[in-house]
Amino acid sequence: MGKTIAKKNYLTIHERCKLIDFHVHPALKTYLFCTKFYKRHKAGGAWNPLRVRVDLPKLTEGGVNGIFSAIYCPEKEMLDDCMPLRMAIGFLGLFSKKFRGISKGNRFDETMKMIDSFENTVSSAVKKGFQNVKIARSRAEFEEFLDKGKLTIVHSIEGGHSLGGKLENLEKFFNRGVALLTLAHFYENEIGQTVGGIIDSKKMFGCFKHSVIQEGGLSDFGRDVVEEMIRMGMLIDMTHCTLKARQEIFEINNNRRPLICSHVGVQARFQHPINLTDDDIKKIAGCGGTICVIFMNHWLSEKPQKDGLDLIVKTIEHIRKKTGTDFISVGTDFDGFTDPPDDIKDIAEMPKFTESLLKAGFKETDIEKILGENALRVIRAGWGGKTGPDPVSY
Ligand SMILES: [Zn+2]
Repeated sequence: MGKTIAKKNYLTIHERCKLIDFHVHPALKTYLFCTKFYKRHKAGGAWNPLRVRVDLPKLTEGGVNGIFSAIYCPEKEMLDDCMPLRMAIGFLGLFSKKFRGISKGNRFDETMKMIDSFENTVSSAVKKGFQNVKIARSRAEFEEFLDKGKLTIVHSIEGGHSLGGKLENLEKFFNRGVALLTLAHFYENEIGQTVGGIIDSKKMFGCFKHSVIQEGGLSDFGRDVVEEMIRMGMLIDMTHCTLKARQEIFEINNNRRPLICSHVGVQARFQHPINLTDDDIKKIAGCGGTICVIFMNHWLSEKPQKDGLDLIVKTIEHIRKKTGTDFISVGTDFDGFTDPPDDIKDIAEMPKFTESLLKAGFKETDIEKILGENALRVIRAGWGGKTGPDPVSY
């Protein structure tokens, strides 16, 4: 028999488990390129920003139960730092209000517009026959829809620049149904410094020269944001934060809420400051949080390779060695203009991930946790409600 897993076996397990992806970007493609969410698009194998890797037919095929749909409004710094992009968006802005907004508008307003637009996209998909999709704007709705077997979408925001430096905007997002904020992104923002995240091979045509790896922590405003998120129950995503900022967040949080990194790797496998140290891993476990492994080879290995399922599994095995399987989830980052592994290039292929875990000897109960149970625990303790998950020591 060796390591051959019967097809039926892994598919049965995959179907039985709840699958939650903590970081995907369908809204980027539907907003920028007006792609239809209800249509099945060809994913293609290679890096291609125009390809669509997350659409409703693929989500259904992949056995996905819930997604955190990351809304990303490009930083003004990125447009300043990327002349071809600035010119393209500026040109499109001559004809389209939407692109004029991206080019010159207030980041908070533009982010809200993107949320509205994605909700309209989902509504039109429902009209086209996808009755099973729902947007959850509170934890209670999330649990209800998931229990009813709905494909449940939750809004999240990537990059604290979307707050526009105003604390009151945090509550406006929260009341709009945003459950999670990724504090940092490609450029320093009002919340604090960043480790960047644009890979060197994509720094073409003189773009991204000012995207740097920083080492500073949170600003005073950033500390206020963290404190307010803990109070309200908005999930704090530390992806793209510096090591110093992560340490500050652990301290401020003091195990009151589960903290997460929604799309990362580990430094033991690839030493880049965006990836988590063993100390980070233990501290995330300590507050009952979760580490969502990214499906992008670049962050999972020192050496370039095309296939990546083995790298994802090895990253998971490393975290398991440090804290067991209670603090591992997935955050694929599909459609975030990423370069996914050739052997799992879109969300429809998620059953292959379950198969890989089984092949690597993970027990069914562990797979259940990694696919969705850990994410569910974090959502229950971190979204709304009162503070105070039970701290665990590692
Ligand atoms: Zn990111």
